Amino acid sequence: METRFFILLFFVIISLCIDVTQSAKGPRADIFNTQDIGQFRDISKSSPNGIAENALPFTSRFKWKTRDAYGNYQIPYIIAGPFKREEYRMIISAMVRIQANTCIRFIRRTNERDFINIESVDGEGCFAYVGNHGGRSSMNLESSGKASCMFHDIVIHELLHSVGLWHEHMRHDRDKYIKVHYENIARGKNSEGIYEIRY
Ligand SMILES: [Zn+2]
Repeated sequence: METRFFILLFFVIISLCIDVTQSAKGPRADIFNTQDIGQFRDISKSSPNGIAENALPFTSRFKWKTRDAYGNYQIPYIIAGPFKREEYRMIISAMVRIQANTCIRFIRRTNERDFINIESVDGEGCFAYVGNHGGRSSMNLESSGKASCMFHDIVIHELLHSVGLWHEHMRHDRDKYIKVHYENIARGKNSEGIYEIRY
């Protein structure tokens, strides 16, 4: 009886392991989404010089402003999913990584008005609102067989958008360090604003 139990247990454990390894995800999703364009315009307009740089300006209305007793900035979140357990853990570990290096603290939302809502809608790709847009600020981390955002670096990338950061190639001083070949930028919606930004 006991032997049979252990054999059964063995097969249960093996099948669990197979389950985990078989939760194969799709290839890395593109970390660009057309929703970026709309908020890019809003944020540009709210910037003193009319140009969105690589971070929200100090005076931006999209900044997170609530601080805890230690002076850290609090960002409430809801992980709405649906995510698998290991994906949920990946999101938490990305938050922990940011917290270990910054004054940002992600807190699980209780009744805070403004928060980030982390979802996984198929076909929506990886995107996040930049900063606090009032009420629910969306973040999507697709995790389908077609495309997945569930990589440690992509999750950090999107979380940093929620914090209020854009992309390094939008730094106002970037021309000191790189040369942009505008002629090589693909025409169409992706080139608008974000990629053709000129200082
Ligand atoms: Zn991005």
